[in-house]
Amino acid sequence: MSFITKNNARQIEYQVDRSEIEKILLEDLYKLSLWMLTKKEQQWLAAARMFYENPEFYVSHIYQKVEKKSDPNLVYTAGSPAYHSTKDCEVLKQDYVNYEIPPEIMGRGDDVAAAFREWWKSEEQLLNSNPSRFLERMSIRWLLKNPPNLQSITADNSGIEERENPDIAEVEAEIDALIQSMNEFRRENPVLIKEYGKRTFAVRKGTLKIDDAGDRRMLEKWDEQKDLLKRKLRLFFQLRFNPDLEIGGALLEALGFKKCKRCHGSIDFSALLGGDA
Ligand SMILES: [Zn+2]
Repeated sequence: MSFITKNNARQIEYQVDRSEIEKILLEDLYKLSLWMLTKKEQQWLAAARMFYENPEFYVSHIYQKVEKKSDPNLVYTAGSPAYHSTKDCEVLKQDYVNYEIPPEIMGRGDDVAAAFREWWKSEEQLLNSNPSRFLERMSIRWLLKNPPNLQSITADNSGIEERENPDIAEVEAEIDALIQSMNEFRRENPVLIKEYGKRTFAVRKGTLKIDDAGDRRMLEKWDEQKDLLKRKLRLFFQLRFNPDLEIGGALLEALGFKKCKRCHGSIDFSALLGGDA
């Protein structure tokens, strides 16, 4: 079997054929009612659950490749994702977040941005072992007038704390507590939630104007809680059905994954033996 990073698994989760997810039955998505999520949100979650439960079925029935243009502002550009022959592969463990290239560098043109990416890769070890020294070195090497801090350039910060080995019972308890507190919130604010609870996306985007500042704040908080709930549920489904993110190599090849050079080595023994990678 083969292993992939959580980031790559999440990428697959989000590439769905929208007309197909509408056919998914939503019964028993979770043991508690998810009334606070729209049907569409629940369908996306059901698709994610299906991916972890039965990746072969998911790929043949739900998955739809979405060509992603890589964002020129980011340090890591999208290449072919890799799959690993062992859970212990060092590359697999670096399930890193992406970073934004400081605007000062971007302003110096594409060649400088490309050189900056190369430099970043060559200093990755320092970034992991001593982030502040890494930033110091960055600022000196690139003569930065406004040296950034790491938090300010962290891209797609999900806001959910990533634990090394999340425990499924703990995650489940967190989900239950969150649902309970959302139920209480609805009891205390029945009108607000009934009227706007499922339209917080529009509130956040500013297409739905809420005049009362207090109401607006509450709806923003509600929106954050829904996001948190969805992220925790995705994690829960992963831990429940495929905690190690173990997926067949042939399926991953079909999705465009390449063998990781580090753990598969230069000689592919499994191919010599005729086995599965
Ligand atoms: Zn590897």
